[in-house]
Amino acid sequence: MTRAPVPDQRAALCADPVVSALGAAVHVAKGSDPLAPVTVVAPSAYAALFARRALGGGDGPGGRRGVANVNCTTVDKLLRQLGIPVLSARGQRLVPPHVDLEAIRTTALASRRWLADLVGHPRGLAAIRDAVGELRRCPPPALAALRGRRDRVGDLCRLSEEVRAHLHGRGFADTVDLAEAAQNSAQRGALESLGPVLVLDPGVLAPFERSVLDAVVARTATAPVGTEPPVGTGAPGGTGTPGGRPALTEVRACADPDEEVRAAVRDVVASVDAGVPSWAQAVFHPTGPRYARALHQELAAAGVAANGPETRRLDRSVAGTALLGLLELAASDWARDAVMAWLSTAPIVSGPDRRRVPTSRWDALSSEAGVVSGSAQWAERLKNLGGRHPEQAQQADALAAFVAGLVTSAVVPRGTWQAHATWAVALIDRYLDADPALWPAHELAATEQVRGAVLALGELDAVSDRTDHGAFLRAVRTVLEETGLDTSDLPDGGFGDGVFVAPFGRARGLRFESVVLVGMADAVVPGGVGDDALLPEDVRRLDTSGGLRTRAARLDEQRDDVVGAIGAGTARRVATYPRVDPRTGREQVASRWMATLTGIGTRQRPVDSFAAGILSARPPLSVRELELHDSAHWAAEGRDPTRSPLALSSSRLRIGVGAARARLGQDFTRFDGNVGVGLVSPFLAEAPMSATRLETYAKCPRRFLYDRVLQVSKRTLPEEIWQMEPPERGTLVHSILEEYLLERLAGAPRALPRLLAIAETQFSNAEGRGLVGRPLLWRMDKAAIRRDLERFHEEEGDLEPLAAELEFGSGVEGADPAVTVTLESGLEVRFKGKADRVDRARSGELVVSDYKTGRQTMLSALKKDPVAGGRLLQLPIYAMAAQARFGDSGRSVRARYWLLSQRRVAPCFSLAITDEVRARFLTVLTLIAGAVEAGAFPGAPTEKPGDRQFDACRTCDFDTLCPVTRERQWARKSGAPALAPVLALMNAEVPDGLVGAVVDGFGDAAGMEA
Ligand code: SF4
Repeated sequence: MTRAPVPDQRAALCADPVVSALGAAVHVAKGSDPLAPVTVVAPSAYAALFARRALGGGDGPGGRRGVANVNCTTVDKLLRQLGIPVLSARGQRLVPPHVDLEAIRTTALASRRWLADLVGHPRGLAAIRDAVGELRRCPPPALAALRGRRDRVGDLCRLSEEVRAHLHGRGFADTVDLAEAAQNSAQRGALESLGPVLVLDPGVLAPFERSVLDAVVARTATAPVGTEPPVGTGAPGGTGTPGGRPALTEVRACADPDEEVRAAVRDVVASVDAGVPSWAQAVFHPTGPRYARALHQELAAAGVAANGPETRRLDRSVAGTALLGLLELAASDWARDAVMAWLSTAPIVSGPDRRRVPTSRWDALSSEAGVVSGSAQWAERLKNLGGRHPEQAQQADALAAFVAGLVTSAVVPRGTWQAHATWAVALIDRYLDADPALWPAHELAATEQVRGAVLALGELDAVSDRTDHGAFLRAVRTVLEETGLDTSDLPDGGFGDGVFVAPFGRARGLRFESVVLVGMADAVVPGGVGDDALLPEDVRRLDTSGGLRTRAARLDEQRDDVVGAIGAGTARRVATYPRVDPRTGREQVASRWMATLTGIGTRQRPVDSFAAGILSARPPLSVRELELHDSAHWAAEGRDPTRSPLALSSSRLRIGVGAARARLGQDFTRFDGNVGVGLVSPFLAEAPMSATRLETYAKCPRRFLYDRVLQVSKRTLPEEIWQMEPPERGTLVHSILEEYLLERLAGAPRALPRLLAIAETQFSNAEGRGLVGRPLLWRMDKAAIRRDLERFHEEEGDLEPLAAELEFGSGVEGADPAVTVTLESGLEVRFKGKADRVDRARSGELVVSDYKTGRQTMLSALKKDPVAGGRLLQLPIYAMAAQARFGDSGRSVRARYWLLSQRRVAPCFSLAITDEVRARFLTVLTLIAGAVEAGAFPGAPTEKPGDRQFDACRTCDFDTLCPVTRERQWARKSGAPALAPVLALMNAEVPDGLVGAVVDGFGDAAGMEA
């Protein structure tokens, strides 16, 4: 749908000298008969539409308004109008672009080796297509001269001819055939229906287009009409350049391309406010999607309608993305992350009742099941998950059934392009939930267009004898990437509906009251024009026909486009350029052509930075800018930003501003982890806690808040596991040793073969849960664990096992009561846990062991403090639990960390539990409890207080969650009174007698030597 200017606006358009000249030329061509046919050939479909509207609004002879029987067309359409009847008479039809591309591919595959190699890659195929397209522009003598070369250019010429022959053999004609047919038609005089032909600023044409146009013009005895103001007339609002063309009225240097886009949109909004309708304005940009997308986004945010060459490609539509994703999956091994990424691209439905799949839930479920890839693994691991967690079995079964159905539906058909196209469209229909009630109109249109584009690929059977999935996927991708969304049936977005946004080259033949040209930096306009690897510059220079454009010709074309875009502005002509390239950080200068595009009246004006722009009085482009503008003004007047009218109406903004200010101060606030006294208390009589829970507070209070209170956890995705995660490895080794020890407690002898046999069974279980990582690393891990178990067997010696996994405080059947410690304040702290094993040494001493895997560097801290400042509390607690179970309260007990890995810092860290150790444990426990009760959770690791304190963050899961300024924040706030309990814990002195209480060896009491 297009919008015509309203009558009073038409008047302004018709006053333009170029439009007047066109109207006069049409009336002269019609002579005395107002109904005589006249054809206007415009440089683009936009220009043809513009010409038709301009002529329709003009005044004709005798005061009559409008014209009749004037056909506004383009060179391409004229060629088709003249040539296609001739081709049809020969039994040929013009080859569609996708069929042409496949003909090039199949011919190249059967041609020279380098060509066959190159078309195997999408970019290579596109490069060959472009080269063939350029060679088709050359007249036959020029092509014949190049064909004799014994190099790649000669190969390409021969390929071009072979493609043409291939197409002829299948009933198709290429653009060369069309031009020849059009020329024959023109020479045979089939032009009566055209009437006189007026050519409107055609720009640079291919030689064959030029010759057809020459033939048509010669036979109709008409002449070209320019679209630029007559030389020397100047233009309203500015002066002419030295060449007499309209000059820019203003040049603006902007900070970067984003600021340029905002400046351009701000200019449009200001012009609308000044009374210039949006349809009378245009923004032109360099070729490519970068500026186009940014301009459309900013205009949409500012509520300004825009139109122009469609920047939305079908491959970016929901249907296009979903189809391409599924076609890629069909050729893959069904990796979990790829399947989940595909489910996230579009609303996907499942089953006969077409219910939307719960993507997030299935993502978590498949991750928990440990699925990595492979259709068999999906089935097996989801089934295992259902077995382990019956409450998830139904969802796991549903996901497994969906994936099984998907794998079956996506089996690639063999044979024809038609079969592939039908299959692909059936996949869209089956899985995509295109709901007309919920989807925007452009996505619904895109879905239909994707279906049509894919079905059209069935035509490729005419030029290609067979296909495979790779070729089909490439063809689908190319056609969707190269096809813009057709908006002609949509309610808005047609030419005339809002601001025209287009590359410089599309300005030819158009007129606007105001134009803005963005991207006018020298690095972009003209930018670097590199050499072409397939048709190099020296070859192009040999061609004098104009078919192959030299670098100089391309630069001239680009300059003409820029001049044409400036000339399209009748009153305001503004150019902007970025001073910095944000990708490289390099400074940029204005285009080298700028000097010839400006005149003495051109105003030079820098554009403020974004911050300055927000503070200025310029019209805000969006609600967000308006909010920033108001808030910045409020703060600039020295008032509290949290009390601004805007902040008072938005609690989120108020809290956000408050948080930012609080974090900058010296007080320890709620935004720094000051939760409030007694609000977080883990000391509940009915819910004993683990030792590691309090250890976490001692490592870093904020870590405790995130991990143990808010229960934030990092999810490790199965496909990211290259090697078994250390916690999983620890759990696996613990399971093996627990099973082995339970058998021994039941009377089985001490036996290494049995220990290793148990390990193999546990290895299989871990594999079934997807915990083991890549096969090679898993093999290495298994070998290392076997070695660790052999060493464990040696070190175990003749200890007499009393218990395996001695459980206390958990409340489960058979577990012992919690270990209760009463602090001086009267607070009772109850602990739960599981001691890995309890033994009786030859000396009769009770020995409690906690297995540790990995290197365990942090355990070395025990040598200075038996509880490592609260970071290692397990040994005294486990000792108390063992004493309670075995009635040894009056006898000595030893607790130890037994390190199992070959990489360990020591074989064992062993501690005799004495009254001094108990007192130290109680002191530290009191300090931790006091800090937790005080509600203080600052981000401050305690493991290495001092200069390298925050090194501990590198291995913390919350490193990306904590503010990057955490170190500076701690330095600012550590003197705050509310942090006193935390500092007391950090600075608590270790009594001299306890240094060295922990020894790094088994010791006699355990029956082994260190
Ligand atoms: S990243 Fe550092 S400050 Fe933050 S929770 Fe972890 S250890 Fe504490």
